[in-house]
Amino acid sequence: MNARTSTRLRLENITVKFPGVTAVDNVSLEVNPGEFFSLLGPSGCGKTTLLRTIAGFYRQDSGHIYFNDECIDRIPPHKRGTGMVFQNYAIFPHLTVWDNVGYGLRARKVSREEAARRIQAALELVDLVGLEKRKPKQLSGGQQQRVAVARAVVIEPHILLMDEPLANLDAKLRIRLRTELRKLQQQLGLTTIYVTHDQEEALSLSDRIAVMFRGRIAQLGTPEEIYQDPATREVFEFVGEGNYLDGEVTEIDGDSVVVTLSTGDGVRAELGGRSGAGRPLSKGTQVVVSFRPHEVEVVPQGAHGDPPGENTLRGTVQHLDYLGAIVRYHVDIGKGMTLLAEHYTAQGVPARQGDQLTVRIPPARVKLFDTDGMRIRGRGS
Ligand code: ATP
Repeated sequence: MNARTSTRLRLENITVKFPGVTAVDNVSLEVNPGEFFSLLGPSGCGKTTLLRTIAGFYRQDSGHIYFNDECIDRIPPHKRGTGMVFQNYAIFPHLTVWDNVGYGLRARKVSREEAARRIQAALELVDLVGLEKRKPKQLSGGQQQRVAVARAVVIEPHILLMDEPLANLDAKLRIRLRTELRKLQQQLGLTTIYVTHDQEEALSLSDRIAVMFRGRIAQLGTPEEIYQDPATREVFEFVGEGNYLDGEVTEIDGDSVVVTLSTGDGVRAELGGRSGAGRPLSKGTQVVVSFRPHEVEVVPQGAHGDPPGENTLRGTVQHLDYLGAIVRYHVDIGKGMTLLAEHYTAQGVPARQGDQLTVRIPPARVKLFDTDGMRIRGRGS
């Protein structure tokens, strides 16, 4: 099966409006040939609208879409050469697997021999050989999803567009099929746009991700950049668990900043690395101290003496979630603030409900956001 591997997608200032709502608001981006690119965001952020606009089902109110250097604004959906996979698969219940996969080829008037060759190749690709004569209702959810994928790739699309294709499957199958999808996409070298609200799916599948809120792209980057170096609090919150502690800047020494929380505890943040054009930081600025629960270290009682050392916070375990590989503590640190801390159970379960727990926050892991949710960065080296 030959995909047309070299398609680059370029969106230039795309805006799509519905009565009373701007679903996509001036979005520009470029997807490289062969790239697996995800649109990630909460329900209603405009990702499906953007995908359907690329497919041609919606016409943008302004902006332009290019496949390689060709502007496709006026090309109707069936001539754009996009393969679509939907959440509900949208396969025809009355057609066999073979006829479902071949549907797009008949519509494109591909000869019978050529169609048979391509259907066979597509079925081999998604591992459905032997099930050609079955109807969709005789297939499992995972098999139906593979029919939908085979049907989309058999037409040798310029670009593969997928809208939450795994959402209807159970958790284990979803993880297995996402590995399969990624392998298939790499094998075909097919430029792929993938819509999801599941951050883990986007992080694990994608070369790059655009995180969307309210019709706009909040951040575009590799999974690592999105997770480790969020541009805003909203992005940080959407892609994983986090701690958000209010405080005031009390010390600034280059990129080393101390924030004093309302509990009186000082938390040092090392803001080295990428510098940003963020607002100037001065003593007295109100900020939010953030870090992931798994980034803290539980300090064993007594091991670091008393007091427990710099960047430690201490409190009472309100409750704990035992999750097998990890235990997640909800620690009351006073003044109405709760801290989330995770610990690998392979290293034991150091505290129970009602116990005191001390955690250390590595200064380089601390992120600061201003009260508008914008990231505060260091000046860089
Ligand atoms: P979900 O994950 O729930 O599908 P989404 O991020 O894909 O969400 P869209 O379906 O693109 O979001 O919707 C973006 C906004 O546009 C929402 O406010 C939605 O209500 C609105 N919208 C989407 N489709 C239409 C339509 N056909 N007519 C009117 N409004 C629409």
